[in-house]
Amino acid sequence: MTLEATEPAEATALSVVPRLRESFERGVTRSYRWRVQQLTALRSLLDENAAAIEDALFHDLGKNPAESQLTEVGIVLSEIDHTLSHLRSWLRPRRVAVPLAIAPATASTMLEPLGVVLVIAPWNYPVQLLLAPVVGALAAGNAVVLKPSELAPATSALLASLIERYLDPRAVAVVEGGVPETTALLAERFDHIFYTGNGAVGRIVMTAAAKHLTPVTLELGGKSPVYVDDTVDLAAAARRIAWGKFMNAGQTCVAPDYLLATRQVADRLVPHLIDAIAELYDGDPRTSSSYGRIVNDHHFGRLTSLLAGQNVLAGGRTDARTRYIAPTVLGDVSRDADVMQQEIFGPILPIVPVDGLDDAIAFIRSGEKPLALYAFTTSKTAARRILTETSSGAVGFGVPVAHLTVPGLPFGGVGESGMGNYHGRRSIETFSHQKAVLSKRLAPDTLKLVYPPFTEKKDGF
Ligand code: NAD
Repeated sequence: MTLEATEPAEATALSVVPRLRESFERGVTRSYRWRVQQLTALRSLLDENAAAIEDALFHDLGKNPAESQLTEVGIVLSEIDHTLSHLRSWLRPRRVAVPLAIAPATASTMLEPLGVVLVIAPWNYPVQLLLAPVVGALAAGNAVVLKPSELAPATSALLASLIERYLDPRAVAVVEGGVPETTALLAERFDHIFYTGNGAVGRIVMTAAAKHLTPVTLELGGKSPVYVDDTVDLAAAARRIAWGKFMNAGQTCVAPDYLLATRQVADRLVPHLIDAIAELYDGDPRTSSSYGRIVNDHHFGRLTSLLAGQNVLAGGRTDARTRYIAPTVLGDVSRDADVMQQEIFGPILPIVPVDGLDDAIAFIRSGEKPLALYAFTTSKTAARRILTETSSGAVGFGVPVAHLTVPGLPFGGVGESGMGNYHGRRSIETFSHQKAVLSKRLAPDTLKLVYPPFTEKKDGF
C-alpha cells in the first residue's frame, strides 16, 4: 500500500511505526546512556515548560496549577527520579540457582527491550497518564509512539510539540487524534500496547493486539468502594474521602466511587463530609480556584442525569455553561440506582447503606473487581477480612488515591479493572522481555548421565 493511496490517519501510522522500528533495529535506543539522556530530557521538558503545562491543563480541565503539579507533573518527575536512581541495578542480569542435575552451569535473567511500543492515554490526567508509562518504556530501551487523548486537546497539542523538541525524534513520536488515528495505529504491529482508559475501548485494543500477538497492559477503571465503620475518627476520614473523591472534580480512576457504611455511621459522617467540602474549597467550590470542571458536555449530561430522583445531602448544584457540578453527596442510595450501575467518574458520592462488614464485603464481591478499595477502620479483623475476602487492584487503609504515588507499589487493576501494572521497577519489567540465559561448559560433560540410550535407570533432572 502506498502512502498516497491511504487516508491521512493511516498514512501517519504507516510512516511512523516503520521509522521507529528502523531506529530500534539500528540500536538507537539500546544504550544505557541514551535511556538516561531521554529521561533527563523529559525532566527538562517538564521543568522548563511548567507554566505552559499548567495553562493547558487549566484550559482542558480547569485544574488548579498546584493540583497539576501534585497530581500530574510531580508524579512523572518522581517516576523519572526513582527510575534514574535505580535503573542501573534494575538492568543488571539476575542470577538464579541451577538444579544439581545440570550443574556446573550458570543461569540468569536479563531484561531485553521489546521494540516499538504504543502508549494510549486518556484525558483525565493527560500529562501523568501519558508520560509515566513512557518513562518506563524509554528506560527499558524501547522506541515509543505516544497517543494522547483528543479530549484534552490543549494538553495533547502542547505535549506533541514539546516531545518533538526534547526527545529523540528517531525513536519517539506523538500521534495526535481520536478514533480514526488510534484505529490506524492499532492496525500496525507493536511489541507492546499500553492502554489507559475505559473497558469498552480496552476490548478494542486487546482485539487489535491479538492479531499480531502483541502483549497488552490495560489500565482500566471501575467502581472503587470506600468502607467506613465506627472505629475511626469520622471527621478525619471525611476529609480524606472528600479529598480523594473531589480532586479533579471526581474524574480520577482511583477516586472512591461510592461509600458503604451502616445508616448510623452514615448519619454521623455526612456533616463531616459537608464540613470537609467547605474546608477544601474555600466555602464555595463554584468560586474556589481549587475545584475543577467536567471535561465536556457529554460527561456533564451523563453526570447530571445520575442525580435525578436522588436524595441530595450535599451539593447538587450544576451549571451547564461552565460544566460545573458541585461536590455532591447522595444519601440512602439504592443498590440498583443508575448511579450504582456505572463508574461515576465525576463529583458525586453515593452512600449505600449496609448492615455491617459482612454485607459490605458481599456487596463488593457481587460487582466487578475494582481498581482500588478503601477502608477506614481500626479493627484488625475488619482489615484482614477486607484484604482476604475481596479482590481489587489495590487497597488503601485510611487514605484513598495515594498508593499510586508510591513507586515501589505496582499500579494496575485486576479483572474488569485491567491487566498488568507499572510504576518504578514494574514499568521496566512491563516494557521488557525477561530473557532466560543458561550457560554450561562443554567439558566435563555431566549431561552424559541423562543422554539416551536409556538402557539403565537414570536419575534425570
Ligand atoms: P478517553 O476517551 O480519552 O479514551 C482513552 C484513549 O482511547 C484516547 O486516547 C482515545 O483516543 C482512545 N480511544 C477512544 N475510543 C477509541 C476507539 N474506538 N478505538 C481506539 N481508541 C480509542 O478516556 P476514557 O476512556 O473516557 O477514560 C476514562 C476511563 O479511563 C475511566 O473508566 C477511568 O476509570 C479509566 N482510567 C483508568 C486509569 C488507570 O490508571 N487504571 C487512569 C485513568 C482513567
